Amino acid sequence: MSVDLGPYVAAVPDEVVERIGSARRVLAVGHENPDADTLGATLAVTAIVEACGGRADPVCTDPIPELYAFLAGVERFRTDPDPDADYDLVVISDCGTLDRVGAVAERHRELFDRLPRVVLDHHASNADERQAGDWVDPEAAATCEMATLLAARLGVPLDAGDGSLAAALMAGIVMDTATFAHPNATPRTLVVSAALVAAGAPLSDISRRLYRTKPDRQLRLFGRVLDRLEATDDGRIVWSTLFDDDLTATGSVPSDSEGIIDLLAQAEAAEVAILFKEAPAGTRLSVRTKAGGVDATVLTGTFGGGGHARAAGATIELPPNDARPVVLAEATRLAAAVSR
Ligand code: 5GP
Ligand code: MN
Repeated sequence: MSVDLGPYVAAVPDEVVERIGSARRVLAVGHENPDADTLGATLAVTAIVEACGGRADPVCTDPIPELYAFLAGVERFRTDPDPDADYDLVVISDCGTLDRVGAVAERHRELFDRLPRVVLDHHASNADERQAGDWVDPEAAATCEMATLLAARLGVPLDAGDGSLAAALMAGIVMDTATFAHPNATPRTLVVSAALVAAGAPLSDISRRLYRTKPDRQLRLFGRVLDRLEATDDGRIVWSTLFDDDLTATGSVPSDSEGIIDLLAQAEAAEVAILFKEAPAGTRLSVRTKAGGVDATVLTGTFGGGGHARAAGATIELPPNDARPVVLAEATRLAAAVSR
């Protein structure tokens, strides 16, 4: 069985199709602190370019967390472009600005500035500053939803690579919708996902790996951080802090913190849930907010970050104990405007 994506492919801008379809040597790059959506989309762009007769190098400035090792082709990720490659296009997936690409963009600033580019992204906070070749669709649940339409539009079969293309794309959608549980999953998301499953994507296996499988150390880390939960305003603002000591004590790595914020956000009365994470640059913020309430991009935007209305993040150049009161004051101010 195959699912017809014909009714949806007109959403892909011609400029994007033209640039990716005709590129010979592509630098396919995702964002720092990678997740399954940026990795899946970057691998998909690589597969699409190669199916169209070009070559591509997937690049991520950070090492790929063990959680994503199951993605076929993940071993091809490089932390830097190939110095011998004569790139003719950079494709940036799941973020819209070079600062989210991370240190690799600093290390190769001249290359990133010189190459024609395509941006594939679904972050609302990136929808304003578009150039030709940028495709930013905040209605897409995941960048992988967009990349699936791009493949279909270019005539690349979704079952390419023995199902590895469909699996990479499915992983990004599963990640960003929490397996279709978030309100970002639309009818189009479900049709695209049906096409991916029909092409061989192991949906339930991917969901289990991404959301229901954890090393013991990570469960212990979750326990420590959840036990430290605090709340104000009758529980409308909840937060916790993850210190480097928590990683040391449990033997965890920084990427093991993925998922804690989504548990904090389950607090019954929480309008705003915040996780403060001790980080080399100061404090990483993860924010989740309730539908119809505070816009998470407004809260994180105050601190130079962004993301989506319900899920966003930022980095603050202060240690957690100093960042916390400033962020909580702003969260409290924004939550005060929400009436239910
Ligand atoms: P998380 O809390 O899971 O790290 O991130 C939630 C969402 O916000 C993700 O979609 C992520 O891409 C976005 N995000 C996280 N941190 C930042 C940041 O520092 N800047 C921007 N623009 N977006 C971010
Ligand atoms: Mn995404």
